[in-house]
Amino acid sequence: MSSAIRLTIEDHVAILSLDVPGKRVNLLSASVRQELSEHLETLAAQSDIRGLVIRSAKLGSFLAGADLKELAARLADPAELTAQLIETGRAIYARLASLPFPTVAAIEGGCLGGGLELALWCDARIVADTPATQLGLPETKLGLIPGWGGTALLPRLVGLPQAASLITSGQTLSAAQSAGIRLADQLVPSDALLNAARAWIAEVQAAGDLAARRQQRVADVVLPQAECDFVRFSIAAEPLSSEPHLTRAAHAALDLVVRYAHQPLARALAAETKLFAELWGSDENRALLNVFFLTDHNKRDAGLDAPAALRDVREAGVIGVGIMGAGIAAAALKRNVPTTIYDADLTAVERVAPTIVSEAAYSKTLRAADPAQAIKLATILRSAHSDSDLARCDFVIEAVVENLDVKKSLLPRVEAHLTPGAILASNTSTLQISKLAEGLARPADFCGLHFFNPVRRMQLVEVIRGDKTSDQTVATAVAFAKQIGKMPIVVKDGPGFLVNRVLSPYLNEALQLFADGAEIDAIDAAAIRFGMPLGPFQLYDMVGLDTALYAGRTMWEAFPERVLASPVIPALVKAGRLGQKKGVGFYTYPGKGKMSRVDAKSREIALQYRRKESRLAPDSLADRLLFPMLLEATRLLEEGRARDPRDVDLGVIFGLGFPSSRGGLLYWADTIGASEILRRLEPLADIGPRMQPTELLREMSRTGKKFYDLVTTPPLPS
Ligand code: NAD
Repeated sequence: MSSAIRLTIEDHVAILSLDVPGKRVNLLSASVRQELSEHLETLAAQSDIRGLVIRSAKLGSFLAGADLKELAARLADPAELTAQLIETGRAIYARLASLPFPTVAAIEGGCLGGGLELALWCDARIVADTPATQLGLPETKLGLIPGWGGTALLPRLVGLPQAASLITSGQTLSAAQSAGIRLADQLVPSDALLNAARAWIAEVQAAGDLAARRQQRVADVVLPQAECDFVRFSIAAEPLSSEPHLTRAAHAALDLVVRYAHQPLARALAAETKLFAELWGSDENRALLNVFFLTDHNKRDAGLDAPAALRDVREAGVIGVGIMGAGIAAAALKRNVPTTIYDADLTAVERVAPTIVSEAAYSKTLRAADPAQAIKLATILRSAHSDSDLARCDFVIEAVVENLDVKKSLLPRVEAHLTPGAILASNTSTLQISKLAEGLARPADFCGLHFFNPVRRMQLVEVIRGDKTSDQTVATAVAFAKQIGKMPIVVKDGPGFLVNRVLSPYLNEALQLFADGAEIDAIDAAAIRFGMPLGPFQLYDMVGLDTALYAGRTMWEAFPERVLASPVIPALVKAGRLGQKKGVGFYTYPGKGKMSRVDAKSREIALQYRRKESRLAPDSLADRLLFPMLLEATRLLEEGRARDPRDVDLGVIFGLGFPSSRGGLLYWADTIGASEILRRLEPLADIGPRMQPTELLREMSRTGKKFYDLVTTPPLPS
């Protein structure tokens, strides 16, 4: 087997170069840990070594942490075995701290999780100033904590507040940010990295103060109790509340870091092992790992079961530069795709172009547009003055007003200018792709490309396959979406596509629950307790009741037996109570910093439509909201509109904010089991067809199978 770590010695300085063969990034598998251990043993036995540099020979990846696929096979291990695994791994790292010469991590590229922990055990970290250099401990995002010393070493290095915030948020830092909090000792240009590491070793050797430096680094953090309490309070109240579903791991990590920062290092490490073993294999950990594997799979999924040739996309076009079009153009530009924008309102193009450029050139580090990048990107953003100016584009996305007639007259006109083979896509959210394709000469080259608002933040994109869309078009749309940084799922054309079709029962059921006697805030609270980011009524208010009414109509028309047209929304729209944008909807919005509360007048309007007899079973609020979504998802699978349960779960997590700590809608259903779901649906049966179990669910119950057993694609290549 070829080795993953190469040892060279130059001028008495040992250099360990990481380069895991056949992988895009360096991962710490068991065999890589073993190799590292052997190298460290060899070096410890040599008397003429004056220093050690650990670096990566793989551009863009220092060390991305443990190999999660390998670890996932051990999820069912008992806690003692997990603790053993942790301690054995950490002992290898800890050996670094006892080598009789200075050690330095020379970091270029991703240095995450176990990768950063390796660097923390070194005497210094020197980082290359490249965009790929990212440092972080993302374990809490997987329902875990860092287990190889991260929770004990980081507070001692950068102080308690910074460490607690980094560990609980799982956030990554750029090279400059790492230097800013002294996580990195030096920030250097990438071509100076190795020399800087050597120079640092020479400096420490000359000063002869290695032992003192090490002692200082592992000393307890001395922080008055009041400050510890403040850290605990400020973090628990802030990032965790915006990510309410990482609660267990992130809260536990916070507690651990604060409690053990001023205790001896050995005790802090022992507590870390214990907590890691407790969290390993927990429901939250399993669910979050599932989400990790879903996204990982998506990166390699071409969107089709059989391969199809891709068309070349060198230049994109966007028609309509409103909210969505501007966001789509910025996403393309950000990834250096030359983009032409066009709008019926020519002044809109001139007005919006600078916004598109600054959004595309936005730098996280500067927290503003990077001026040099903006100048560069401005040269590849072109304005069209008529639709014939789009002729040079090989992928054109239409994002004009949601009006069938407007789109049906525009699309063939644009198509006539495009070269054969160019792809035309619509960002429509409610219109059928096959209907829009009717007037086109090349319907095979047309598909839906449904982005979500705001495009800047929402990664998910639905690629909609119309009746006549070709495989090549689908594959190219998937590849293009990835090229511009998005996460595409392929869905067959149909009302609401995937995401809105699964969302519709959630919104719909909330109105039925209210009609049955439940209160607006109680319904929202049940959804939030489950982990949804917004309750259904809060979501109505955010989307706007007029928009919801329009989108809801598509669903009522398509599925009249399941979607009941509640009179509440039209009544509130008529009364001008449209939601947040009007300051009042189901809730009132009195202004920034003030609490919103259920609006008495809106409730009164809604009360007129309440049923005389309540049909509410106690404790069934969450089941009533979530089971209709689940049943709709099973219908999408039965109809073959969703390719795979994984796409459904990606859609609901990244399109609707379904809690990742539940692993996805179908993953969550699998944790309950089909038979148990049928049992809980039974008392809801007389509510109507929307609560009737589908054939797929019944079959799962009969066969004892899980939805994830439907995943038929072969194991992924590594
Ligand atoms: P918008 O009203 O903000 O912008 C529409 C733009 O299209 C305007 O600039 C308008 O001047 C231009 N336009 C209208 N008719 C045109 C024509 N014939 N030729 C060229 N330009 C024309 O709309 P939006 O919210 O950005 O929505 C655009 C599309 O995206 C719609 O199909 C909508 O359903 C879909 N969508 C919207 C959202 C959302 O949340 N806003 C989310 C997903 C998808």
